[in-house]
Amino acid sequence: MEQQAGAARHANTGETRKARRVFRYVPFTIEQDVTAEPEYEARCVSGDETECGARSGTHCHPGPVEEWQRKHTQETRHTRYRRNFGDYAVMQPPAEWVALVRANGGTA
Ligand SMILES: [Zn+2]
Repeated sequence: MEQQAGAARHANTGETRKARRVFRYVPFTIEQDVTAEPEYEARCVSGDETECGARSGTHCHPGPVEEWQRKHTQETRHTRYRRNFGDYAVMQPPAEWVALVRANGGTA
């Protein structure tokens, strides 16, 4: 299945090669999007057959999540958690590349 998809993609590349523009390598830097708050969350995965499944809820700082874990452990003696962290990233082109694109009327 995966091989088929790869073959199809390859064939497609061959067909459109002449029409495609060749893009220069742009050394993007990856930055955290400061306009969107990161998300921290923990879920209790203690238990042999079935997980406890209790959740901390989503917070924009790790502090409240850790506090919830301590409290949950104190109440239940559960000691194993699955932690999730999510944030948004923005690809930032170098300043000289942005200037070049503007100079070429945005077609570089
Ligand atoms: Zn638990």
